[in-house]
Amino acid sequence: MTTAHPSTPLPERTRRPTRQVHVGPVALGGNAPVVLQSMTSTPTHDVDATVGQIHRLATAGCDVVRVAVPESRDTAALPAILRQSPIPVIADVHFHYKRALEAVDAGVHKIRLNPGNIRDLAQLVEVIRACRSAGIPIRVGVNEGSVVERRNKAVRSAEKQRLATDPHRQMIALMLDKLQETVRIFEAEGFDALVLAAKSPDPRVVIDVYRAMAARFDFPLHLGVTHAGPPETGRIRSIAALATLLAEGIGDTIRISYAADPVEEVRDGKELLCCLGLRARTEPELIACPTCGRIEVDLLKLVAEVRAKLATIHVPLKVAVMGCVVNGPGEAEGADVAVFAGRGRGVICVRGEPVRTVAEADILDALYEQAAALAERVQRGEIELTAGPVHITP
Ligand code: SF4
Repeated sequence: MTTAHPSTPLPERTRRPTRQVHVGPVALGGNAPVVLQSMTSTPTHDVDATVGQIHRLATAGCDVVRVAVPESRDTAALPAILRQSPIPVIADVHFHYKRALEAVDAGVHKIRLNPGNIRDLAQLVEVIRACRSAGIPIRVGVNEGSVVERRNKAVRSAEKQRLATDPHRQMIALMLDKLQETVRIFEAEGFDALVLAAKSPDPRVVIDVYRAMAARFDFPLHLGVTHAGPPETGRIRSIAALATLLAEGIGDTIRISYAADPVEEVRDGKELLCCLGLRARTEPELIACPTCGRIEVDLLKLVAEVRAKLATIHVPLKVAVMGCVVNGPGEAEGADVAVFAGRGRGVICVRGEPVRTVAEADILDALYEQAAALAERVQRGEIELTAGPVHITP
């Protein structure tokens, strides 16, 4: 089995060039790294709970955070949240343009609008002008669920008929039309600090609509699969779309959305970016064999234990946990620390060299000891970590 090191960078040329906007100090689009974002699930007016969750998200690797502001008590809480947030804050506005104006006044770093929910052009223009004066960007997001016209019955009927003819293709065309309509309004106001999004729960729609957006617009794109579900299923749904697009160079900020603690969204988003070489790792990377009929130890238990123990090390070591000892430890090339377990013992290797053979019961402690010692040497500047791929071929 051969494992290519996941942080092998994508070639630079694959990133799509876009305009750049700034969310507070965080650059988004252009040549900036892909920005990882999430959204709080606390009531925004509960300042302590919201700030607490923002800190947990930031610690997990979130670059910018979005908070919903459905009521004036939520926008009233923004100054206190902004004072205590370690990362830029985006106000998510639905339906009431006054919430957007209040959020801008409070000093948020970006606004998210669903133009389908703010129908009055004069109100939308007021928000655009307020954001322009404040120098903050706006994300315009259309969602599959709200893309069809609701108020004008004739337009609604025509759009539904259009969708019935070829649902996939027409959904993408409709989303693009709605975005184009909105972009025109912003351009007429001379506002170009725009970020665009078009979300769907269907990863195939997300892939195709973003490809079309990337071809048509040069604004930064916010990627996401909406209503993805719980992590167990939402993870695959989200990564199927986001990984495809990011690997094609499309996408300047991502949010993975789950029906779960948003910290899970950030953990998975960070891992996705690291896997695609779009973010440098800061924590150990665990490589483990999938096990097979040759296995002679409880490798799955060992992998879970190693994973938990490595959480105390904050150096991007590559740690390999393999089920075979028979094929020799010299094949852990590229892993900083590795164990080959089997027949009641484990051979511990550091940088490809076997350093100890221990009983199965001692593998966890021995592996951790070597990993911690190596991490300390890296932190002291005595050695550098290997940057190449890991080749494991038992
Ligand atoms: Fe590969 Fe050995 Fe693990 Fe089987 S037990 S998957 S051969 S490393």
